[in-house]
Amino acid sequence: MAKEKVVIITGASSGIGEETAKLLSGKGAKLVLAARREERLKELKQQIEASGGEAIYQVTDVTSSEEMESLAKYAYDTFGKIDVIVNNAGLMPLSLLHKKKYDEWDKMIDVNIKGVLYGIGAVLPYMREKKEGHVINISSVAGHEISPGSSVYSATKFAVRAITEGLRMEESVGNNIRATIISPGAVSTELTETITDDDVKSSIDAVYSGAIKADSIARTIVFAIEEPAEVAINEILVRPTNQEW
Ligand code: NDP
Repeated sequence: MAKEKVVIITGASSGIGEETAKLLSGKGAKLVLAARREERLKELKQQIEASGGEAIYQVTDVTSSEEMESLAKYAYDTFGKIDVIVNNAGLMPLSLLHKKKYDEWDKMIDVNIKGVLYGIGAVLPYMREKKEGHVINISSVAGHEISPGSSVYSATKFAVRAITEGLRMEESVGNNIRATIISPGAVSTELTETITDDDVKSSIDAVYSGAIKADSIARTIVFAIEEPAEVAINEILVRPTNQEW
């Protein structure tokens, strides 16, 4: 059950992270919200509290290991435990390789890969001590398939799957830490706004015309959390029914 579980969510200021926070708070979880946009986090905390839920937030850039460590410490100091982290923060500035968008490649690697690693590193000591915990990492259908324009983004999302499987093998037996990969298809959020390559943007807009709502992914995350401790949901793909690839 999600009730009373302490759940850290990165990228809680919009889209999938925000929907997941709302759904989990309705089920009695204690939320620790993280992202860079403070106004959004503040607003979400207020909404959760107005509906009788419990939430704290800390402005956090996931590309900083120090800030991720500080986030985990704040969660532990406030609630006395960390049950779940949802490493959800991510960005998707798709582009063709010959456009040489070095800055966007660096950002994707920093947020999508290093952010997930720092999230894992920050919570593991608490979970290993308790011999219980759950790490949920958001990959993508692009972590299974590659298309023109998705090379770097796909590489980061393949990496998320590799890291999560490694975590599962290292920490499940003995430490009872569950590892879950959630791989969404097209979901209607702010994610595609990071695309600056017009040659890719139009084909992506076509795919996203059939995008599903973020609450579908929130329900999937909640499903994985609510399974009993001895049941680990290791990987789920969730696509719009009408998405082919
Ligand atoms: P959004 O753009 O709505 O949300 C992205 C979140 O990531 C925001 O809350 C943003 O917050 C946060 N974020 C970005 N950079 C940082 C950073 N450096 N530090 C902390 N937080 C950061 O998109 P989604 O909700 O769709 O994306 C959530 C996850 O789902 C991502 O990992 C994405 O790759 C994945 N995904 C999404 C799909 C989709 O179709 N929408 C499909 C497959 C996977 P802030 O700017 O306030 O820091």
